[in-house]
Amino acid sequence: MSSHHPLVIGNWKMNPATSAEAKALFLAVRKKVKRDAPVSVVVAPPFPFIPDLSRLSPGGRLPLAAQDVFYEDAGAYTGEVSGSMLASLGVSYVIIGHSERRALGETDAQVNKKILACLRRKLTAVVCIGERERDLRGDFFSVVEGQLRALCTGLSARQLAAVVIAYEPIWAIGTGKTATPEDVKEMQLFITSVLVKLYDRALGKRMRIIYGGSVKPDNAAALHEAGGMQGFLVGGASLKADDFGAIITSVIS
Ligand code: PEP
Repeated sequence: MSSHHPLVIGNWKMNPATSAEAKALFLAVRKKVKRDAPVSVVVAPPFPFIPDLSRLSPGGRLPLAAQDVFYEDAGAYTGEVSGSMLASLGVSYVIIGHSERRALGETDAQVNKKILACLRRKLTAVVCIGERERDLRGDFFSVVEGQLRALCTGLSARQLAAVVIAYEPIWAIGTGKTATPEDVKEMQLFITSVLVKLYDRALGKRMRIIYGGSVKPDNAAALHEAGGMQGFLVGGASLKADDFGAIITSVIS
């Protein structure tokens, strides 16, 4: 089991509409993060709000994540944002391979290159994997294993240990359908067993694996206690400071 504090990341997706609203939400969330609480809380706003929010987070009390990164460091890549740009703005985490980005065409190979870009800039990559749907035969385990193998390509155990894996079954994202704590536990054991096969037991124990998919104040405690993962990636509920605060509280045992 990882020795880190639980990690709770709020993925704001393409919200809110203005920088003023983003600052208000950030300050409301920051109030929910008690100094010295045994939890790491991170928010992932849209790119344009990062500079303003970075100024509101001296000392990194509420670190920032970006919702994506490009894998090249500079050049003729219109519309893209590099790891060095993010690092220069004080960003410390990057969500990679979110299913909403994969749905827009992001491939496993690009996800792997983006992880390497994060490692070059000492940004913590939070890499999303998860099946589109479940089937009774359990074929979805092969989908997850395929994504895991692809993201690990060319990474040493030391490099992978700096990465966070977010298991996010697509059918549970933004749908109100949540995996049961038993499903989450089963997947935590499965992901760990694949990592042990690809690397070794030491890495399997060290890896941080978090769950995402319709985590709400009323299911967070059960998912955390019985799910066995090291935190949550939260979408919709991270836009309401009270709900996000309740989820943060639920992982502090
Ligand atoms: C997400 O955006 O990663 C997510 C898990 O969303 P939601 O919590 O709304 O399902």
